[in-house]
Amino acid sequence: MTTLSAVVADARSRLAAGGLPDATIEARILIGGVLGLTATDVFVRGDREIGAPELEKIAEAIGRRLKREPVHRILGEREFHGMVLKLSPETLEPRPDTEILVDAILPYVRQIVASRGEARILDLGTGTGAIVLALLKECPQATGVGTDLSEAALQTARENAARLGLAGRFETIRSNWLEEVTGRFDIVVSNPPYIRTGVIAALEPEVREFDPLRALDGGPDGLDCYRAIAAGAGEVLAPGGMVGVEIGYDQRDSVRTIFQAVGFVLHQALRDFGDKDRVLLFAKAEP
Ligand code: GLN
Repeated sequence: MTTLSAVVADARSRLAAGGLPDATIEARILIGGVLGLTATDVFVRGDREIGAPELEKIAEAIGRRLKREPVHRILGEREFHGMVLKLSPETLEPRPDTEILVDAILPYVRQIVASRGEARILDLGTGTGAIVLALLKECPQATGVGTDLSEAALQTARENAARLGLAGRFETIRSNWLEEVTGRFDIVVSNPPYIRTGVIAALEPEVREFDPLRALDGGPDGLDCYRAIAAGAGEVLAPGGMVGVEIGYDQRDSVRTIFQAVGFVLHQALRDFGDKDRVLLFAKAEP
């Protein structure tokens, strides 16, 4: 028998010795996740006794982190825009920067709901469903479709929708970008793969080895998916609709050019928490 504080101290020194800079907070989050406690409870309930089965689970989690598996993949879920989302090996781990896309497009979803009583949202390459599910959570009159190339990712997105009570307003389509999508949508959103193939090898191991390569690799210049999305978006976008995409920090001008070439105008550009270009919103150009 040992105490929680002793287990946390031991985990912290193992993580620090493994070269992980955030050893203290990660030890608390991982151990809290295994025991079903918040990171704060882990701190204040240090004299709780820890039995052998719990110790074994904690050791396994710390071992995985030492192999650079991200904390939230080990726990199997993470928070995004106030929701807890289940992750799977086929889904990109949602990033806080992507919440900027949700918050940027949200006023337009609300505006469409206010004028028409409903809004249809299409999320291309939905992964966990993070973007579309956050919008559906905020707008009870909206409905959404998530597409993905991976059926396993769509399964995870549907599970997340069900866990959040949004399954009745959410559908999935297995599709390579817009290929299998029919119908009209007021809002089209996507956080597509946008990393240049040549720089993937230089990413940190947490991303390179644990996020699905298919969700990261945007082709030789990182822009392949924007070309595919821009080529099809005009056809599915309803009049007065809006397209919102996440982009890499150096892709603002090239993505704008791709969308302008097929009849869109840049409506708004937003920067991320690191003051880098991160989100672009496009509207159809007036004929
Ligand atoms: N923002 C992610 C990263 O830099 C990339 C996600 C993407 O390609 N859409 O790790």
